[in-house]
Amino acid sequence: MSFKSLGLSEALLKAVDQKGYTTPSPIQQKAIPPVLQGKDVLASAQTGTGKTAGFTLPLLHILSENPKEKYRPIRALILTPTRELAAQVYANVKEYSAFLNLRSVVIFGGVNQKPQVAQIRKGVDILVATPGRLLDLQSQGLLSLKRVEIFVLDEADRMLDMGFLRDIERTINLMPEKRQNLMFSATFSKEIKKLAHGILNQPVQVEA
Ligand code: AMP
Repeated sequence: MSFKSLGLSEALLKAVDQKGYTTPSPIQQKAIPPVLQGKDVLASAQTGTGKTAGFTLPLLHILSENPKEKYRPIRALILTPTRELAAQVYANVKEYSAFLNLRSVVIFGGVNQKPQVAQIRKGVDILVATPGRLLDLQSQGLLSLKRVEIFVLDEADRMLDMGFLRDIERTINLMPEKRQNLMFSATFSKEIKKLAHGILNQPVQVEA
């Protein structure tokens, strides 16, 4: 199995090559094809399995294939529970999109919002965010989620542990109903299954 055989574009293969990856990890082999097909995916994967590339690579492929508008509305939202994870995912998005004309921005709480707002104003294709800061900027009218095509909920179990259920629900209500959803979680409690049921539409289930 190779990254090429998964159907990823040349620009992404080049980025993957630059990272030094030779073979897709099991979660990447299982998650990338259904995501590329536009399906909702529920993935069981721990950190360290390569899950970030598992959702980022096909997400970038989809966004770069479809024509974009000049003013760059937010087309993909990746929600993470902590600012450390947001920064890490953002770094990955930047690396994998090195040869693509897509803009990504990261926002999280605990720091001045001004530089983040300035970045958003320049246009965003992919927004990586923690829930609190996202809703805060949205409620100030500084960003809109009305054009989101792909929604990724990363580390969903940690999200719930940290008490973000209400924020996730509020975020969902700000996005179009018709969108692709990807949900990653290390564990699958009753609460996670319930959340998945509320967010995902006939998901393909994959395991690392
Ligand atoms: P993650 O589970 O997404 O946090 O990724 C864990 C680590 O594995 C990161 O340092 C990635 O850069 C690395 N990684 C992801 N995919 C691959 C791959 N296919 N081959 C080798 N390393 C990888």
